Amino acid sequence: MNVEFFYKYPKTLLNKGTGFLSGYSHSLNPYAGCAFACSYCYVRQMPISVFRKKEWGTWVDIKKEVADLLRKELERAKKKGKVTIFMSSSTDPYQPIEYKEKITRSLLEVMAENQPDFLFVQTRSPLVCRDIDLFLLLKDRVRVSMTIETDREDIRKHFTPYAPPISARLKALQLLANAGVPTQAAIAPVLPSSEEFPETLKKFVDRVCVDDYFMGDGSGGKRTKNLGIFSMYKELGLEKWCDPSAYRIVYDRLKKVFSDEQIYLSQEGFLPSSGIL
Ligand code: SF4
Repeated sequence: MNVEFFYKYPKTLLNKGTGFLSGYSHSLNPYAGCAFACSYCYVRQMPISVFRKKEWGTWVDIKKEVADLLRKELERAKKKGKVTIFMSSSTDPYQPIEYKEKITRSLLEVMAENQPDFLFVQTRSPLVCRDIDLFLLLKDRVRVSMTIETDREDIRKHFTPYAPPISARLKALQLLANAGVPTQAAIAPVLPSSEEFPETLKKFVDRVCVDDYFMGDGSGGKRTKNLGIFSMYKELGLEKWCDPSAYRIVYDRLKKVFSDEQIYLSQEGFLPSSGIL
């Protein structure tokens, strides 16, 4: 897919944590738009995408010169109370342009210096491993959550053809864990997967979170329905996987391999969690 890039110089950066992210004081998006262009991305239905009038995935705003801005906003926010940050709610902080632009890295450098109480990093990109040195400075004030919706590469290609392969994400989880960075696999949204999925995950991670369109798209599944995603299941003859009860298929399989304390459901898997909160 062709992606157009635009440089932006924002005046503000940290947003208030609301809705699904109300457990956080702030959310942080180094970019607007996302070149991974996942078919089911709920941001497609949000004002940032709707008002743009360009297809989601074909444009990315690069937020330039934001390190100083974050430094100031972080200082101000910390005077008011605990600062817990979710990065990112409406973009992937490690989408391909980050290789070159290093915006996310510049923000992490600021947060390593003046640390928030907690930082949750949500991505589906192995590029996240580039910043292990900075995550280690944050110690238990950080968790990297890697989206792994399925273990089936054919399913991944059907729903998210522009996203990194599953094997590369698993390898990234292993590198992070070996380095001592707290991690989790986010099976979010649940996509059709094999019986062996939990055993595969167990080799790479000791914490998993399960979420689906109905619990996690912020509208009880309406946003996803408007995207026409359910027809993509029909094309595969896998309609049973787009039902509100489908997450139980994976959840019950996980329970055979992971302990109850290692399995999180929907929002609870994305809450701030560290020894110091
Ligand atoms: S990576 Fe996340 S933000 Fe980007 S398109 Fe996929 S679901 Fe949306």
